[in-house]
Amino acid sequence: MYKLTTSMMCADNFNLKESISIIDEHTDIYHIDIMDGHFVPNLALSFDYIKQLKKHTTKPIDAHLMMTDPDKHIQQLIDYGVEYITLHPKTISGHEFRIINKIKSAGVKLGIAISPGTDLSVINIYKAYIDKLTIMTVEPGFAGQKMVKEALPKILEAKTLKDENNLNYLIEVDGSTNYNTFEEYAKRGTDVFVLGTGLFNYPDLDKSYKDIKVFLNNIFKNINE
Ligand code: MG
Repeated sequence: MYKLTTSMMCADNFNLKESISIIDEHTDIYHIDIMDGHFVPNLALSFDYIKQLKKHTTKPIDAHLMMTDPDKHIQQLIDYGVEYITLHPKTISGHEFRIINKIKSAGVKLGIAISPGTDLSVINIYKAYIDKLTIMTVEPGFAGQKMVKEALPKILEAKTLKDENNLNYLIEVDGSTNYNTFEEYAKRGTDVFVLGTGLFNYPDLDKSYKDIKVFLNNIFKNINE
């Protein structure tokens, strides 16, 4: 069955106290986008945000690091107790096995995120270590962008690669996840949906989650038939 993860960058941060109990009830994973203004031309959530969020939830936290030299911060994230650390191949290139080993030996799950312009073949050498493979259908850096349709075939590519090699990673899609795209993503093999503006753009958050679940349950019912 599919999983939902919630992009906290898109949450109403002025009503966070109210939202967090609703989010906690519905989400499977918290998705925390960390941007450094270098790897991507924007700044977003922080390591301290994760430390504070930990006090309010027992649900798994995924740190999606859109930053140069993430290696410097991996130990801090391990200490804060995140369940997933998701990295971009370009930012670990040249010392990927040392970084992967640091994450996995701490019992943290390894996520790898692929930008729309990056070919899936970059993961070939370390694909066996990946716990969650994130196909980004928008350029990293900003919420609410239009889907890059060229990224779509990579979801199915990720599924084929997984099946042919007996791999275990979850396939996640990050970007433009909404009623126009749910089915496109699901039918290509998506296991995990990162919800951002497609969730938070509706005024009643509890209802928004429930509506999405009904919609996705129907899609997955049809896929499995
Ligand atoms: Mg993200």
